[in-house]
Amino acid sequence: MPSNTEPTSDDPLRITIVGGGIAGLAAATALRSPSHLITVHERNGPDVLEFGAAVALGPNGIKMVRSMGLTRDDVNGVLCGGYKAFSHQGKPLHGRPWVSESGSPVDWWLVHRQDLKDALLRSATSPSGSGSPATIVYGARVIDVDAHSGKVMFADGAVVEADLVIGADGIHSEARAAVVQDPHPAPLPSGHSMYRFVLPFKLFQDDAGGLPEQLDYSNGVHLTLLVAQDGTDRNVVIYPCRSMKLLNIACAVPDKKLKHETTYSWTAAGIVDDMVDLFQGFPEWLLNAFQKTNEVKLFQLRDQEPLPRYARGRTCLIGDAAHAMVPYQGQGVNQALEDAEGLGVLLKNVKDKDEIPGVLELWERARKPRASEIQLGSRLAQQRLAPETFARMMRIHWRYEGIRSALPDNWERHVGRDEKEMEGDVEKAALGFERNGCVEA
Ligand SMILES: Cc1cc2nc3c(=O)[nH]c(=O)nc-3n(C[C@H](O)[C@H](O)[C@H](O)COP(=O)(O)OP(=O)(O)OC[C@H]3O[C@@H](n4cnc5c(N)ncnc54)[C@H](O)[C@@H]3O)c2cc1C
Repeated sequence: MPSNTEPTSDDPLRITIVGGGIAGLAAATALRSPSHLITVHERNGPDVLEFGAAVALGPNGIKMVRSMGLTRDDVNGVLCGGYKAFSHQGKPLHGRPWVSESGSPVDWWLVHRQDLKDALLRSATSPSGSGSPATIVYGARVIDVDAHSGKVMFADGAVVEADLVIGADGIHSEARAAVVQDPHPAPLPSGHSMYRFVLPFKLFQDDAGGLPEQLDYSNGVHLTLLVAQDGTDRNVVIYPCRSMKLLNIACAVPDKKLKHETTYSWTAAGIVDDMVDLFQGFPEWLLNAFQKTNEVKLFQLRDQEPLPRYARGRTCLIGDAAHAMVPYQGQGVNQALEDAEGLGVLLKNVKDKDEIPGVLELWERARKPRASEIQLGSRLAQQRLAPETFARMMRIHWRYEGIRSALPDNWERHVGRDEKEMEGDVEKAALGFERNGCVEA
C-alpha cells in the first residue's frame, strides 16, 4: 500500500510515477539523481508479463536508451537493417535498407517488450545507479490525480502527495483527465484490429533447417511485411527478437471482417482458428505457424487526437497517456523514451519544487509538437503511403538527438518565461522541420 511522508526543506524531490510500463520505467531510470526520490505505482503485480508484440527501436529510440546507459545486449536486441515487402502469396513487392538522410545505413533494434521493461526496471532499481534506486509499488491502482497539488488517489483509499507526478499509465490513462481537464475525444478505433503473438524461431525451420524465403536473414535481418493484394486490407508483420530466439508476428485485419467484436484491451485473448480463417490465402508456412501457438492476443488499434497539453501544475503525461498512436510507424515506444529522456535532462538539477511547473511547461513545448506530428503521421501511414514518402518521414523522426537538440542553447533562461519568446525556435528544433512540413508532404 502506498505510504505518504511529510517533506522537509532538505528532502529530495518526491517524484510519483503512475504506471510501470515502458514509459514509466524509462522515466524512473532517466530521472535517477541524488536529489530525487522516485516511486513508481503500478496497478499490476510483478508477475504480469508482456505477451507478444515486440517493438522496433529506431535510431531516435536507440539514442534514448543509450543515454539511459543501456546497451543492445541489455535488451536482447536484434539488429535490423531494412524491410522487405511481399504479397500475401509471398511474391516480392519492394524493400529497402534503412538509410539516414545522408544516405548511410542505419540499424533498428528489434526488442521484446518484456526485455525492454526488464532492462529499464533493473536500471531504475539497481543499487549502483545515481541517487537512490526507485521504489516500485505493485498492486497500486491510481484512480485520480490533482495536477496542481500533486495528490495521487488510489483505489484502496490511500493518497500520496508528490512534488512531481508523471502520468505514464498508458492509453487508458486515469491521469490524463487531470492534465487535460477540458473534454477531449477518447482514443478512437482506427478500423483495424491486430492479432499478435511470438513463437520460437526454430519452429519456422523445415526439417532440413531451411527457412521460408521471406524469412531468409542470411544477408542480414529485415522486417518482413506480407500485404494482401486482393483489396482485403489484411497485412502481417514478422520480425525476430530476443537475440533471434523468438519471432514476433502481428497480423492486422479490418474490424468489419472479424467474427467477434474486439475490445479496447491489449491483453484480450483472440481465437487461433478465427485467425487461421481470416488469413486464408497467405503462405502455407504462415498458416501452419498460426496453428503452433496456443495463445494469441487480439486488440483493436486505437489512437487519439493530439492532446491540447501534456502538463499542468506539477503533473505531466508521457508515453501512450500523452500521445496514443497506431503502430504504423513503430514510434509509440520511441516517443515514450524521448519523453522520459527529456524529463531526465530538464529536471536533473532541479531541487526546488516550485520550479517544477515552469520546467514542465518548457518540456511540453519541446515534446508536444513533435509527438503530435508523429501521432498524425502514423495515422497517415496506415493508409499505405508511397514507400519513398514513408521512408522520408521515418528519416526525419530518426534525426532527433534528445531534448537539448529541441531547445535553444540557453533553455534554462526560459524556465517559467513567456511561451511566445521561444515558441517558434522550439517547434522548429523539436520537429527538425517546420510544423506540418512532413505530414502535408
Ligand atoms: C502491436 C503493437 C506494436 C507496436 N510496435 C511498436 C514499435 O515497433 N515501435 C514503437 O516504438 N512502438 C510500438 N508500439 C507502441 C508501444 O508499444 C507503446 O507506445 C508503448 O508500449 C507505450 O508505453 P506506455 O508505458 O506509455 O504504456 P503501457 O505499455 O500501456 O504501460 C502503462 C502501464 O501503466 C499501468 N497502469 C495503467 N493504468 C494504471 C493505473 N490506473 N494505476 C497504476 N498503473 C496503471 C499499466 O498496467 C502498464 O503497466 C506498438 C504497439 C502495439 C500495440
